[in-house]
Amino acid sequence: MNLNNFSPIYWSSSYQREVEAKIIGKNKNEVKVDKTLFYPSGGGQLSDLGIIVYQQQEIKVVGILKREDGNWLQIDSVGDSILEEGVEVLLQLDWDRRYSFMKSHSSQHLISHVLKRLFDVETLKANFDDEKIDIEISRSLSEAEILEVLQESNRLINEGAEVISIIVDKDEYKRKYRDDARGKISNENIVRLIQLGEGEGFDLTCCGGVHVKNLSEINGIFLDTFKGNSLKFYIDKHGIDSVNKQRILMIYLEEATAKKGEKLVEMLINKLNEGRILQEGNLRLLKMIFAKIDYRCQEINDKKVVLLNLPEIDRQVLQSAARELEKGFLTVVLGRNDILYFISTDGELSAKEINDLIIEKTGSKGGGNKGFAQVNAKNIEDPLSLVKEVLTMFS
Ligand SMILES: [Zn+2]
Repeated sequence: MNLNNFSPIYWSSSYQREVEAKIIGKNKNEVKVDKTLFYPSGGGQLSDLGIIVYQQQEIKVVGILKREDGNWLQIDSVGDSILEEGVEVLLQLDWDRRYSFMKSHSSQHLISHVLKRLFDVETLKANFDDEKIDIEISRSLSEAEILEVLQESNRLINEGAEVISIIVDKDEYKRKYRDDARGKISNENIVRLIQLGEGEGFDLTCCGGVHVKNLSEINGIFLDTFKGNSLKFYIDKHGIDSVNKQRILMIYLEEATAKKGEKLVEMLINKLNEGRILQEGNLRLLKMIFAKIDYRCQEINDKKVVLLNLPEIDRQVLQSAARELEKGFLTVVLGRNDILYFISTDGELSAKEINDLIIEKTGSKGGGNKGFAQVNAKNIEDPLSLVKEVLTMFS
């Protein structure tokens, strides 16, 4: 018995782009055909797309629905009015999409093999998109380990290895393959395995997906990100473009800092720490000022107002310190980058209202609420005097 006749076309002939088929079922906007050219999604991979050709007309296949009674091809309403049960049609794959999925999917087999062999790390979940692979693994890796995984995967691609589809019945699977194969098998009586490498091969996985014939068809695996147990990769054009783009960003950074590699990282970490220490110092100082706010207070139009010029203070520090402000004040701060802030702890006086008056007078941009508001004061000559003037007239 040739099991190929009982398994999907995409198992044994993933490079077959078209096939003549017969429509054997029809519902509204969907048809069932007697040939399994289209991969129906599953195992983390999206479905194939393509067209149905009938009497010189091309009907788009916009999705595949997996049902108990088989796969149904989704078509639009124009196609629905053309196709009928019993007619002979030609099915054609969206080949670029299929081939990209074949390469992404085969790359994942390879990466999972390398992870297992080098570091005994299991692949728990995998998702594929156009030239993109996301996997979840059993433990997180170090930078050095991930680099080794990439080097070894790309070395095997360079070397080239056949990707062999093995289709057997359940008994043969249990006898010959079960002990060596990764992955679970479905409930079907026919089992499909994918082997990397000729002869005995070096990796064996139960898989119903679509794959390339040889790993050398992949034009390289590139890292996108890795965080905890999640790894993301690009392959081919997407990978090459992404790596070059990152490199160009890095060159900007290297030129701006006159540092490279680990020295650059070290410098940036130091700068960030300095920034954090400075920020903490600013916060402590501001809290001290706010704790004795009434010393700096002046009465304008019966309101208790504090005007402060603090060019080192940014919004984050100001909002942290403002939590400790006493009730009954309007505090106005001209802070970093010439931003003018209004903080009101006086229930009768809205920070937004005063801020809006400044915006109205100057045309500057800003916004806020009753307790906290801000306006860009870059184009205002003497912002604190202007605030004083506005408050004098305010009723
Ligand atoms: Zn596979």
